Amino acid sequence: MTDALYLHIPFCAHLCAYCDFCKVLFDEKWAFSYVQALKDETASYGIGKVRTVYLGGGTPTALPDELFAEVLSLAAPHLRAGGEFTVEANPENLSEGKLRLMRRYGVNRLSLGVESASPRLLELMGRHHTFAEAQAAVARAKKAGFANLSCDLIYALPKETLAELQTDLEALLSLRVPHLSTYCLSVNPGTLFAREGRHEMEQSRAAGQYERILRTLRQAGYDRYEVSNFAWKGYESRHNLVYWHDEEYYGVGLGASGYVNGVRYENTRNLQKYLRHNWVASQETVRGASALEYYFLTNLRLERGFDLASFERKFGFSFFPRYQGVFAGLSGQGLLRKENGRVFCSDKGIMLLDRVLLALY
Ligand code: SF4
Repeated sequence: MTDALYLHIPFCAHLCAYCDFCKVLFDEKWAFSYVQALKDETASYGIGKVRTVYLGGGTPTALPDELFAEVLSLAAPHLRAGGEFTVEANPENLSEGKLRLMRRYGVNRLSLGVESASPRLLELMGRHHTFAEAQAAVARAKKAGFANLSCDLIYALPKETLAELQTDLEALLSLRVPHLSTYCLSVNPGTLFAREGRHEMEQSRAAGQYERILRTLRQAGYDRYEVSNFAWKGYESRHNLVYWHDEEYYGVGLGASGYVNGVRYENTRNLQKYLRHNWVASQETVRGASALEYYFLTNLRLERGFDLASFERKFGFSFFPRYQGVFAGLSGQGLLRKENGRVFCSDKGIMLLDRVLLALY
């Protein structure tokens, strides 16, 4: 059963130096046509009520209020009572007007692109806000009644020191939000960072930064529930857990991906094609070995891994004895564990997830 909906708004007020997401500079002319195409694609799926709705981007809050309200009114009727409705926002365009609109349409979770507190790193990334503006945006959101807030951090930035990272972590902790996502910088072709010839941080140093994040956030009372995601109890992202539990979801919009009726699909990243209703660029029916690969790839990112009984229900055979030998090898290296009917990575296994997955494939 497909029980989650992702809607993509590709528009941004400016483009960040590291960004590899599917995004375009905001242009009013295209934005109106885009929202119409988004409505048409959503209608094409005949979506009923779902447990979670996620409006991501791009920057959904970069839309003018009128269009933003249209998108919210497209998404809101699909949310089941008690469901989670998340919107991504940037500090500089999370206005009181936008917050009021989101309250009106039942949004109950916000994900804010804070990324860093350091003026040097914010400028390097091409972000258009200061940390003081991020603090003010968080305060506005809380005042408007949003308790379920998440903030993003990017680490392993060019020449970033551990001291800079520690300052960023303390700044993020001072925001007192229940969910934090931390992303290691990757330099992807086509980004400004790649064109400037910037490099990713050497793996051992980036691992050192990750360990610092893990230690600091755990000490501060956050649980790591997924490789990059930390939350207070009960504030895990229910929408993102759909992905990590390898469950189905509708993905609508430019460059969105989805998983419906056993088929994974990727939408086009070409705006003109999208506007002409050529939505899907590629698709794959997930079965056999690839179904197992997706299952391990998603579930083993989670601190709790997967439940052996659910595995058996899904695949029609049990994990043991088929993977007994591989499991013994990985657990002998201290990477994979089994406890209370669940299989999951150790801290070391999460750091070396690629090695674990390779052994299981
Ligand atoms: S990081 Fe966010 S705000 Fe920056 S260009 Fe990418 S999608 Fe837009």
